[in-house]
Amino acid sequence: MKKEFVVIGLGRFGGSICRELTRLGMDVLAIDKNEDLVTEYSNIVTHAVVADSVDESVLKSLGIRNFDHVIVAIGDDIQASILTTLILKELGVKRVTSKALNEYHEKVLRKIGADQIVHPERDMGKRLAHNLVSSNVLDYLELSDEHSLVEIAANSKIDGHSIIDLDVRARYGVNIVAIKREANVIVSPQATEVIRKGDILIVIGANADINRFEVKML
Ligand code: ADP
Repeated sequence: MKKEFVVIGLGRFGGSICRELTRLGMDVLAIDKNEDLVTEYSNIVTHAVVADSVDESVLKSLGIRNFDHVIVAIGDDIQASILTTLILKELGVKRVTSKALNEYHEKVLRKIGADQIVHPERDMGKRLAHNLVSSNVLDYLELSDEHSLVEIAANSKIDGHSIIDLDVRARYGVNIVAIKREANVIVSPQATEVIRKGDILIVIGANADINRFEVKML
């Protein structure tokens, strides 16, 4: 189903969201106060508008309420990011995702009702660190301060072993919740499932346990 998005702020982060959403066939309204950027994006997205997002009347006149999802990708101007998020929630936008620069910024965004808060630099740094420690770690999603979900590529060390053989739950306290094998996904694999080299294991658990599994197992 085609969804309608608004991206406010066309820096590197917002710009990249615009391009990818468009590539995925979505309708995108791009907003920035910088005219040059808006001109650049007018050839890429469905609509591009020069506007200052802290001006409530402008957002209203753009019919912002009718969009499915608004992404506040304002970079350094924390005040503008907070005020924009606040106005969007006051206008009744259902889903607002805002970019936070630091923990204080995140706290305020949460308080004023942002539905999703992203920290691209911090999160990418964490992901990269896991991938640097173990090149088998393909992706890493923090579920809470203590728990994560990671994608780990199975290498030759565990090729041909079943989940029960490896005894991951008892030895490491983590669970393999799914296995991606070529085009298939085996959800909730049986303990007897044999892992093959090249499988991607989706593992859930406490961070400390996952780290032990990452470092020792592979
Ligand atoms: P990034 O780190 O993603 O490159 P930037 O700070 O370079 O972030 O980009 C943020 C963008 O947000 C800039 O293009 C800036 O013009 C835009 N922006 C900042 N404040 C507002 C605002 N109040 N209304 C509209 N656009 C804004």
